[in-house]
Amino acid sequence: MSNIIDGKAFAERLRGDIASRVSKLKAQHQLTPGLAVVLVGEDPASEVYVRNKAKQTVEVGMESVEHKLPADTPEADLLALVDELNKNPDIHGILVQLPLPKHIDEAKVLDSIHYEKDVDGFHLTNVGLLSTGAEGVVPCTPLGSIMMLKDRLGDLSGMNAVVVGRSNIVGKPMANLLLQENCTVTIAHSRTKDLADVCRGADILVAAVGRPEMIPGDWIKPGAAVIDVGINRIERDGKKKLVGDVEFASASGVAGAITPVPGGVGPMTIACLLHNTVQQACRQHKIAMPDA
Ligand code: NDP
Repeated sequence: MSNIIDGKAFAERLRGDIASRVSKLKAQHQLTPGLAVVLVGEDPASEVYVRNKAKQTVEVGMESVEHKLPADTPEADLLALVDELNKNPDIHGILVQLPLPKHIDEAKVLDSIHYEKDVDGFHLTNVGLLSTGAEGVVPCTPLGSIMMLKDRLGDLSGMNAVVVGRSNIVGKPMANLLLQENCTVTIAHSRTKDLADVCRGADILVAAVGRPEMIPGDWIKPGAAVIDVGINRIERDGKKKLVGDVEFASASGVAGAITPVPGGVGPMTIACLLHNTVQQACRQHKIAMPDA
């Protein structure tokens, strides 16, 4: 088996499973999960993400609703829209695309989404559910990462896992998921001493930093599984390219399994958003998630 973890192929399989669940929900419960995506402003990268999300939502058979608001939308208007979506029975998931314009309080908006319609796992109730090991909605990028690790490695119990990065959207939820899988977890960050040594102790290394190719192959324990969450746009030899936080050329010769950038964690993120929407639709209707 190749040591490359093909996130694109994995995400395609996951979307196939989701499509089959959605068709069972329609046939058995007359329920079509609906996802509303709200975009404020005209950030080109956000517009691409929102387009991709809408396209993939429709492809698995769900309803997709897009709300595009101008950059100068008052915070109160955005909160009113979220309130309306919270009350709309045809909408089961609400995603407000980040970043929001500076005059809007992101935390306030995210917390205004009802926790049972939160598909990002950013609502404080879902954060609390994850950190206490209860069932809730898990942030998409860590969820995709843990799915790929379990698929490749099976039981993760007792493994040493190092997560580099402690953000609320990737590092911390990732560490919680690894802990739930009975790993011994270390969270490293910008103040960590001897980061190279910390990384060398990892059976599972998750890089979520945002620094191009910061982790070279000689920081990786031979045979370790490496999940590279980083997405960095760089220019090399006059060409623009995407690289991760791990130096793929040297790391792929040492790692037992590794996600490439692009084509690793990235494709799993949207697939997990669709998964979370189906999960929330089932929860709201108090029905079990159908088998794929
Ligand atoms: P943040 O900027 O929120 O967090 C970065 C973390 O890295 C911080 O905890 C920071 O430490 C730590 N850090 C920064 N420099 C160093 C260093 N020199 N050594 C050790 N740790 C360091 O980023 P995000 O978590 O939001 O994202 C991380 C990366 O993942 C980005 O490249 C982002 O684009 C990508 N990403 C990819 C997604 C996908 O779908 N594949 C989804 C989300 C993010 P400190 O807390 O001390 O400042």
